[in-house]
Amino acid sequence: AREEGWGNMVIFNEGMLERAMNLMHIEMDLYRALDMGEFFLTYQPIVNIGCRTITGFEALVRWRHPERGTVSPAEFIPVSEGTGQILSIGKWVLYEACRDMARWRSEFPEFEDMVVNVNLSARQLSQPGMVDQVADVLRETGLPARCLRLEVTETMLMGNPEFANMALRRLKEIGVKLCIDDFGTGYSSLSYLQAFPIDTLKVDRSFVSKMSREPGNFKIVQAVVALAHSLGLEVVAEGVEEEEQRIMLSELRCEGGQGFLFSRPVRAEDVPALVFGGTAP
Ligand code: C2E
Ligand code: CA
Ligand code: CA
Ligand code: CA
Repeated sequence: AREEGWGNMVIFNEGMLERAMNLMHIEMDLYRALDMGEFFLTYQPIVNIGCRTITGFEALVRWRHPERGTVSPAEFIPVSEGTGQILSIGKWVLYEACRDMARWRSEFPEFEDMVVNVNLSARQLSQPGMVDQVADVLRETGLPARCLRLEVTETMLMGNPEFANMALRRLKEIGVKLCIDDFGTGYSSLSYLQAFPIDTLKVDRSFVSKMSREPGNFKIVQAVVALAHSLGLEVVAEGVEEEEQRIMLSELRCEGGQGFLFSRPVRAEDVPALVFGGTAP
C-alpha cells in the first residue's frame, strides 16, 4: 500500500523503521542504565609482544541490558555520543577503571608498573572540564597519573587539531600517558602526529589481522612501526589472533600486543588470575 501512495519510490522501508526504533529504544534505556548499575567493565591485557608478559589492560565497557542481555559498545557508544550521554558513561568508566587499578596495585606488588587504558570519546575530549575531571578521579582513587593511559582516535584529533593539541598537552602535564587508537583507519597528517604529545600508537586490527596473508598489509604495519619509532613512540598491535602474527610483529620490533591470542577481555574479578597465571593460550 505504501508503494502505491509513493508511486514506485520507496523512501522508508520496514528495515529502516526497525533500525530507527532500535536506536530510539537504546537511547531511552541508556537513560536509566547508569542509575540501575547496568554497565560493567571488562579488561583485555596488553602484553610485551616478545615475552607475552602483561604490561597493562584496556578497559572495555559492557551494558547488561535487562531484556537484551549484554549489549556491545559498538552498538551503544555511537548512540550515546549523539545524545551526549557518553559524558556521564565516560566519566563512570574512567572512575571505575582507575579505582580497579588502584585496588589491584594496593593488593598485589605485581601491579606496581601496570597501566590501565581508558577510551575517550570526541565529546569527552572537547568537554571544557575534562582535564580537571581526570585530575579529580586520579586524586579520589589514589591512582598515580603514570598508571593511566587515555586512548584517542586520529579522527577525534584532526577535527580541530589546535584545540585537541591543547587538551592533550594539559593532560600530559598532569602526568597521564596518551595513545592514538585505531591508527591507520582515519586520516591524519604526519605533521600533526609529530606535534601531539603522544606516547603510544595502536595499529588497527584491520592491518594486523591480514598481515600474515597479504604482503600489502604487512608493508603497512612495517611502515607504521618504523614511523612510530622514528617519532619516539611505542607501538601496540591490536587484534593479534595468531602466533604467526605475534612473531612477525616481534621481528618488526613492535613493543606491545593485544588480542585473542593472549586473552579475550575478562571481568574485573578475573584480572589478577591472568597476571599470576601467565597468558599461555
Ligand atoms: P577499540 O577501542 O578498538 O577496542 C578493541 C576492540 O577489539 C574491543 O571490542 C575488543 O574486544 C576487540 N578485540 C580485541 N582483540 C581482538 C581480536 O584479537 N580479534 C577481534 N576480532 N577483536 C578483538 P569491544 O569491546 O566490542 O569494543 C568496541 C569498541 O567500542 C572499542 O574499540 C571502542 O571504540 C568502543 N569502546 C569500548 N569501551 C569504550 C569506552 O569505555 N568508552 C568509549 N568511548 N568507547 C569504548
Ligand atoms: Ca581502544
Ligand atoms: Ca583500537
Ligand atoms: Ca579498532
